[in-house]
Parts: sequence; C-alpha cells; structure tokens
Amino acid sequence: ADRQMVNIHTGIRNTLAMLNYKLRKGNINVIENFDETIPAIKAFPGELNQVWTNIIDNAIDAMEINNKGNLTITSKQDGKFVKVHIEDDGPGIPEDVQQKIFMPFFTTKEMGKGSGLGLDVVNRIMQQHNGTVKVTSAPGATTFEVCLPV
Ligand code: ADP
Ligand code: MG
Repeated sequence: ADRQMVNIHTGIRNTLAMLNYKLRKGNINVIENFDETIPAIKAFPGELNQVWTNIIDNAIDAMEINNKGNLTITSKQDGKFVKVHIEDDGPGIPEDVQQKIFMPFFTTKEMGKGSGLGLDVVNRIMQQHNGTVKVTSAPGATTFEVCLPV
C-alpha cells in the first residue's frame, strides 16, 4: 500500500469507534482535544491506525484496575510537526520499566494477555514515518507522545 494524505483525527476517531466496547466496559471517559486546523499528512493510514490502537489499548488495560478512567487525546501542530498526546490516569509506569516497554516481547501482563509486541510495532511504524514516540509517566498520569512530520 502507498502513502496517502490522511487526516489524523479521522484515524483516531475510527480507532476509538473500534475500541468502543472495551472503552465502555472499562468505564473510560474519552476527552478529545483536537486542533481541527491540523493539515492532512502523508502517511500509511493502516499503519497509523495500528499506532493509535496499540497505545490506546494499553491505556485502557492500565486503567482497568480502577474500573474507570479518563483518556485524553490532544493534537497540536508544532512547526513542521504534528504532536498527538494520549494520556491516561491509570497507575503509571515505574521508571525502570519505562526503559523496557518498547522492547519486543516485554510485557507486564499475565500469561496469554499480552504479547509484548504492541509498542515495538508502534516504534517501527514511527520510524517508517520519520516520526518519534516517547513516554512520560507518573502515578495517575501516563502520556505517550507521537510526533509526526507534516
Ligand atoms: P503488551 O500490551 O502486550 O504487554 P506492549 O508492547 O503494548 O505489550 O506494552 C508493553 C508494556 O508497557 C505493557 O505490558 C505495560 O507494562 C506497559 N504499558 C504500556 N502502556 C502503558 C500505560 N498506558 N500504562 C501503564 N503501563 C503501560
Ligand atoms: Mg499492548
């Protein structure tokens, strides 16, 4: 498949629709903070949807222990880059664990529940798009920042 002009908000909204059942089950309140003036970017649409899916899926899993949560998705343009912040108010990721989460097969989930490949895939797709992904986390606030060139 070729690169196409993609509206990132459409991709994120489609991903949220796809995860709707899991979001409802987890009592997750979704807050969309989108800058609708962000232009379409040239990207592989299916791959980008995989990025949103993998990050949001992890966020929902993280908030499960509270039986509720807030998922805040923010988009903004920063010069030649589009930045998407995906934040959850789950327990957070300890610093020593943060360094391992992008490694293939790293998971803290119980046997059979996590492959440990989600963030490795995210990382590869971001490289393919000349973008970056990084995490910041404290108890009650974990944010994945996806940065893509416009
Ligand atoms: P998997 O989901 O199969 O475990 P991932 O590569 O998607 O594999 O994620 C790796 C690990 O990163 C997870 O097992 C979890 O420990 C941690 N993680 C990812 N996102 C979050 C988050 N939002 N909050 C807490 N931990 C997270
Ligand atoms: Mg995962």
